[in-house]
Amino acid sequence: ARRMNSTRVYGGLKDQDRIFQNLYESYGKDLKSAERMGDWYKTKEILLKGDDWIINEIKASGLRGRGGAGFPSGLKWSFMNPPGWEKNEGPRYLVVNADEGEPGTCKDREIIRKDPHKLVEGCLVAGRAMNATAGYIYIRFVPFFTNFNLFSCQCIDYFSRGEFYNEAKVLQTAINEAYAAGYLGKDACGSGYSFDLYIHRGMGAYVCGEETSLIESIEGKAGKPRLKPPFPAGVGLFGRPTTVTNVETVAVSPTICRRGGSWFASFGRERNQGTKLFCISGHVNEPCTVEEEMSISLKELLEKHCGGVRGGWDNLLGVIPGGASVPVLPKSICETVLMDFDALRDVQSGLGTAAVIVMDRSTDIVRAIQRFAHFYKHESCGQCTPCREGTTWLNKIMNRFNNGQGTEREIDMLIELTKEIEGHTICALGDAAAWPIQGLVRHFRPEIVKKFEQFDQKVGGVSIGGWAPSST
Ligand code: SF4
Repeated sequence: ARRMNSTRVYGGLKDQDRIFQNLYESYGKDLKSAERMGDWYKTKEILLKGDDWIINEIKASGLRGRGGAGFPSGLKWSFMNPPGWEKNEGPRYLVVNADEGEPGTCKDREIIRKDPHKLVEGCLVAGRAMNATAGYIYIRFVPFFTNFNLFSCQCIDYFSRGEFYNEAKVLQTAINEAYAAGYLGKDACGSGYSFDLYIHRGMGAYVCGEETSLIESIEGKAGKPRLKPPFPAGVGLFGRPTTVTNVETVAVSPTICRRGGSWFASFGRERNQGTKLFCISGHVNEPCTVEEEMSISLKELLEKHCGGVRGGWDNLLGVIPGGASVPVLPKSICETVLMDFDALRDVQSGLGTAAVIVMDRSTDIVRAIQRFAHFYKHESCGQCTPCREGTTWLNKIMNRFNNGQGTEREIDMLIELTKEIEGHTICALGDAAAWPIQGLVRHFRPEIVKKFEQFDQKVGGVSIGGWAPSST
């Protein structure tokens, strides 16, 4: 409500071009409200146009996966329908990744909380495009205490519900409403196409956001990523053709089909088209999740939607533009960089999940990146050596650096270590652990050295290999 009453003008995106109209809860989240916003309008006609038509619209829209990798969605969906796919009889699955665990990221949570029918309708449309027989929404859900019935304390009862407890409830209600209205299930929307949709609750492992790990988890196994190939489009959930895709990617697909791929493609730059949810946190005056045009400049995004950096732009230290797994950018680059896949890749960072974490000059940047190192060490599934051992080493070294213990030569050795991990692991968690540290050294090496100097002054000598002279 606070934001709705604001007189601030939104960025380049006009209200009528905003797909997620209920981010600030102007409407309800029930089926009637969703229909008032235009959801479920002409869904039957979209389904009747068939798989090729939907996939061509998605291709024309230029939509790239919103989960972080940025793979072209139309192309990815088309892998489910190779020539002769009809002969491979049996179930085929759409899996929606709602295991939003990337630190700083909360866009999918906002969609599920406030616009659940966009996701439910999106599952139906994406499912039709892939000729899926059923869809699973894998949602983050972490019961902290499994034995909570033993306790009567209200607080323990609250924590036992986990992180996405309310979101799972909202989503289940929306699915039930869609079934009751005949939009899901047998002969969905009267189109002759049948599609069932289920929620599957995860247990909060970050690595289950990786597609094959997520599939293993739904199958009831430990969430450990699989080696690829085979890719899920060939051998996925329960050994059947499967596509795993992000909540936002799926949720925008019905609007793209209704308004046309060319409409969506008219926003943003070439290869970086469309609108996008940005979740902005940290040292800004008004943290928020906002839908904006792709390729908006980072500075404009912060100033138009978040009231600017706390203490003014000059107080900015750096920004992590796409969640914890992409390298941090210093203020000099933040001045001009655009928020899209290619522009951020060109400055050796990434759009990732578009979780923008803003840090002002009061931030201890070495400590911040050390926390990420700890996170990745904790979340490694331990399956491959470079990640299991490497993240442990990264964490130990970053801990020492954060305490001021180390030498300049060790900074170079740290970078060598990240290169040994990067690209040598089964899944991208190893890369995600390496990149923030590479970004830290690339742009903030003097901050690490300053810590060493402060430590040396404190102990009255030179620290070698992390051992203070007084302790040797
Ligand atoms: Fe597991 Fe890490 Fe290997 Fe991924 S990279 S499979 S998380 S050990």
